[in-house]
Amino acid sequence: MQTIKYNFCTNIKHVYVASSACLLGDKVRYDAKLKANKFCLNIIPRYLQIIKFCPEVAIGLSVPRPPVQLINTDKGIQALGVENPTLDISRKLNNYADCFLNNYKSVSGIIFKSRSPSCGLNSTPLYNKNAETIGFTSGLVAAALQKQHPEIPMIEEDQLDSHWSWFVFCCYLFADARQYERDMRGYYQSHLKQLGLEQKGWGSMTNLPEFFQLIKHNTDCQQLFKTTR
Ligand code: SF4
Repeated sequence: MQTIKYNFCTNIKHVYVASSACLLGDKVRYDAKLKANKFCLNIIPRYLQIIKFCPEVAIGLSVPRPPVQLINTDKGIQALGVENPTLDISRKLNNYADCFLNNYKSVSGIIFKSRSPSCGLNSTPLYNKNAETIGFTSGLVAAALQKQHPEIPMIEEDQLDSHWSWFVFCCYLFADARQYERDMRGYYQSHLKQLGLEQKGWGSMTNLPEFFQLIKHNTDCQQLFKTTR
């Protein structure tokens, strides 16, 4: 039998995760409202190193600021002002994304705010020029990072409610799952059942037996999975 070697993190406290700053309670949103996510703010930082980022503040926008939305234009998807369509922050957001990993070298995974024109991960409304919704896509920064760094696990706020999505994110975060892509969904499901967790959607996943060993022996991991969001 072929033995497959892969990298595996045994000390999760050394894992760095970047998170949209608004999820951590920073007053950075366009409307200056606080939208902290309790799991991001109170639970994850107990076990992982969290680095926060806000693309829109980083490119020089104020708080509060005029809202932007994603419009499908002849030049591609652009982040344009809702009230003033001549406001175009697309280039600055793309430049920010290009430099992201230079600025956050130690990051192993990213947690994004849902539905944001900068940070949403496949959940941001996309409009046509007539302001009609034509679908959902990723915010410009998230989209660029998905394209440029498919090796980095990414998740968005809404997926944190799903134990399964969180579990898959952590599989990729703590171990290099791509080095042995085998469908062991039944294996996962039986172990999830043992852990008292339920699968809630999401696609198939690869097997990571050692990941379960880590969960079994590492109290930090156990807490990360058993904490109610
Ligand atoms: Fe900043 Fe992203 Fe949060 Fe918007 S969603 S406030 S860009 S961190």
